[in-house]
Amino acid sequence: MRFADLGLSPETLKAIEEVGYTTPTPIQAQAIPVVQQGRDVLGIAQTGTGKTASFTLPMIDILASGRAKARMPRSLILAPTRELASQVADNFTLYGKYQKLSMALLIGGESMGEQQKALDRGVDVLIATPGRLIDLFERGSILLRDVKVLVIDEADRMLDMGFIPDVERIVSLLPKMRQTLFFSATMDKEIRRLADAFLMNPKEVRV
Ligand code: AMP
Repeated sequence: MRFADLGLSPETLKAIEEVGYTTPTPIQAQAIPVVQQGRDVLGIAQTGTGKTASFTLPMIDILASGRAKARMPRSLILAPTRELASQVADNFTLYGKYQKLSMALLIGGESMGEQQKALDRGVDVLIATPGRLIDLFERGSILLRDVKVLVIDEADRMLDMGFIPDVERIVSLLPKMRQTLFFSATMDKEIRRLADAFLMNPKEVRV
């Protein structure tokens, strides 16, 4: 299996080549085609398996056509910590180098004014920790009705950190017609309940 066999755009393939990856990891080989088909994904994968690129690469191509309106992000990635959210943002920047995607990172400890300005300009990719997203939503800075793709990254850590009520509230504000990609390193009863609530007919991918 090569990246070129996955049907990614020439722009994305060029960016991957420059980063120096030669072959997709197992989670990438399994998840990328499912994301491209528009199906929901339930991914059971640890950090270090290449799971971030398994959703960022196909999302970049999906979002490359179309344009975001002010305050109406077209995709949303929820991550449990600032560090993880920043890493996801770095991935979009790296792999999306040859495509014009706008992005905003909403995490605590950064200026809300700057984040608000970025949202006003329109974002294709919004990456956020749940608390900061809710703060900005309550100020009226974000409208969530244009979100077509939702990613929940490290759901088990969200649970450990007590973020599930926030995540449930955010998901309740999103359109029902959307694609959802849900990742967790572990799968217990509570995580399974959340996956059932958030996903529609998902393809399960496990590494
Ligand atoms: P992640 O599991 O998303 O945290 O990724 C773990 C590490 O693997 C990151 O440092 C990535 O840069 C790297 N990585 C992701 N995909 C590949 C690949 N196909 N080949 C080699 N390294 C990769």
